Amino acid sequence: MVKVRPEMRQLRGVAAAPGYAMGAARLVGRQEAEIDPRSISAEQAEAELERLENGQRGAQTELEQLEITARETVGEEEADIVASHLLMLDDPDLLDPIREKIGRDLLNAERAVAEVSDELIVTLQALESSYIKQRADDLRDVRDRLLRHLRGDGGDPLQGLTEPVVLIARDLAPTDTLRLRKDLVKGFATDEGGSASHTAIVARSLDIPAVVGLNSATGEIRDGDYVIVDGVNGLVIIDPDPPVRDEYRQREAAYRAEREALASFRGEPSVSADGTHLELMANIGSVQEARTAAEQSADGIGLYRTEFLYMGRARLPTEEEQLEAYLAIIRTIGPDKPLIIRSLDIGGDKELPAFGLERESNPFLGYRAIRLCLDRQELFKTQLRAIARSSAYGCVKLMYPMISTLTELRQANALLEEARRELSAEGIPYNPQMEVGVMIEVPSAVLVADKLAKEADFFSIGTNDLVQYALAVDRMNGKISHLYQPFDPAVLRLISMTVDSARREGKWVGMCGEMAGQPKALPLLLGMGLTELSMNPSSVLRCRMLLSQLSMRDAEQLAEQALKSESAQEVEQLLDNFLQAVK
Ligand code: PEP
Ligand code: MG
Repeated sequence: MVKVRPEMRQLRGVAAAPGYAMGAARLVGRQEAEIDPRSISAEQAEAELERLENGQRGAQTELEQLEITARETVGEEEADIVASHLLMLDDPDLLDPIREKIGRDLLNAERAVAEVSDELIVTLQALESSYIKQRADDLRDVRDRLLRHLRGDGGDPLQGLTEPVVLIARDLAPTDTLRLRKDLVKGFATDEGGSASHTAIVARSLDIPAVVGLNSATGEIRDGDYVIVDGVNGLVIIDPDPPVRDEYRQREAAYRAEREALASFRGEPSVSADGTHLELMANIGSVQEARTAAEQSADGIGLYRTEFLYMGRARLPTEEEQLEAYLAIIRTIGPDKPLIIRSLDIGGDKELPAFGLERESNPFLGYRAIRLCLDRQELFKTQLRAIARSSAYGCVKLMYPMISTLTELRQANALLEEARRELSAEGIPYNPQMEVGVMIEVPSAVLVADKLAKEADFFSIGTNDLVQYALAVDRMNGKISHLYQPFDPAVLRLISMTVDSARREGKWVGMCGEMAGQPKALPLLLGMGLTELSMNPSSVLRCRMLLSQLSMRDAEQLAEQALKSESAQEVEQLLDNFLQAVK
C-alpha cells in the first residue's frame, strides 16, 4: 500500500480511464467562449440570422473534418460522438428557438445560442439518468464551438503542447479529448465529468489514463507540479515522495504486463483447464457498449438493457426504431453471436420521463418491468414485434425481467404469440425457434422455478435484484450496503435451487447480475452448474484467463463447501483461499 504523507496532497475523483500517468502538470482551460450580450434592432435581425448560419456552417466544417480524422485514426465509436455533435448542430429543437430569440426577442446570436443551449443543458442535468446527464457535456461542447465560430476565433485549448505532460483542466470537451495526442498527453485530470461522459469514453479508447470529477484539481495543482494520475483508483497525487513515485512506476509496469497477458485471451475460447465450456458474455445498454464487448471478444451479449432506447426522449420508440437498434447490435457483434434482449425493465431505480409514472413509496416492489408491460400491452407488443423481427437476422433470444409468477410468464408468452401471429399474417419474417427465457430475480420465481422451467427455454439469474429481495436490503441504500451480500448462503441456495430446477427440464442457467463478473465468484458459479455468465465487457478477458486455470472437479467441490457455509464472510474466505491456491 502506498503511504501518502499528510503534506503530500491527494485528490479523489472518478476513475475514467484505467492506467497510471506521471509527470509535469500542464493546466489548460476549456474555452468558455465569452459572450457579448447585446440586443439588436429589428433591422439587424436578418444580418444576425445570417451570422448564425455562417457560424453554424464553420462549426459544421470543422466537425466534419474531425469526424473523418477520428474515423481514420481513433475509432468508430469516437467518430460517432462527433457525428452526434453534427446532428445536434442541425437539430431544430436547438436551432429553432435560437432563431426565434434572434428574430422575435431581438437578441444577438451569441446570447441566443447561450440562452437556449444553457436551458437545455440544465434540463438534461436535472434528469435522473447519469447517461443522459452526461449528454449535457456534448451539448456544452457544441455550444462552445458555435460561440467560438460566432466570435470568429478558433480558440484551441490544446495549442502549444510540445512535450509530454499531464493535462489538468476544469473540463475537457469530448472533441478536445479526441484530439489529444498520446505522445504529448500522458494522462489527464479534470474538475468535472463522470465515468459515462464522452470525454471518459474517448480517454478509454485512446488508452490515456484519466481521473475526472475531482472538483478542485485546477485549484490545487499548479503548472509544472509533478503529479500522478491513478486512473485505476480514481486518485491524483500532487508532488509525491520518491518512494511513492517508485511504487507507482512498479504498478504501471505490472499493469502493462497484466494487460498484455489478458490480450492473449482475446479471440480464444472460454474453457476451463479440463475442457468445460462456459459462455462469457457482456452486459450492454447501447451500440457503443456492444462495440466494447466485441473488442473484448465477449462470447455474445447476455443482457441487452433496452431501457436506454426509451430514455432521453419525449415519445416512445417505434417498432421500426427498435428493430433498427437491435439490428445495429447484431451488425456490431455478428449474426452468429448470441444476443439476449431483455424486454423493458423500467421502474425501480430506472425512471422514464416519457412514461409519466407516478411516484411510489416502494418503487422496487411496485409498478415495474413485466408488471408494467403486461398492463400496457400495446407498448409491450410493439417491443415484442421488434424483437421477434430482429430474430430473423441474428442469434437473438428474448428474456423477461422480474417474473414472479408462472401466470406472468404465460401472459407474456401469450402476447408474444399474438405478435408472431400478426407478423405471419403480414408476411414479415421472424425466427419461430427463438429461445425465450426468464430472469430469476425474485425469490418467488426460484420457488416455482420447476414450473417455469417447463415453459421457458433458459433462466438468467439477476443477482442485483435477487440479493435485495432475498435479504430485504435495498440495493440503492448506502447505509445498509454492508448487508447487501451476494455471497450470503441464502443467495447461494437460491442459485443452486434454480440450477436444479432447470437441469431437471434440460434447460440452461446463466447469470447477468454484477456477481457474474466477479472473478471470486467464477469458480463457485462454474461448480454450481451455470453455463453462461454475463458481465461488464471489461471483465470478460480477466474471467476467461481465470477460467483457463480452473478444473471442474475442484470447482464442484468448492461449490459444495460454499453451500454448507454459515455466513457470507465464511464463503468469501473460502473463495479467497481457493483463488490464492490457483495463483
Ligand atoms: C439484476 O437485477 O441482476 C439485473 C441484471 O438487472 P438490473 O440490474 O438491470 O435490474
Ligand atoms: Mg434486475
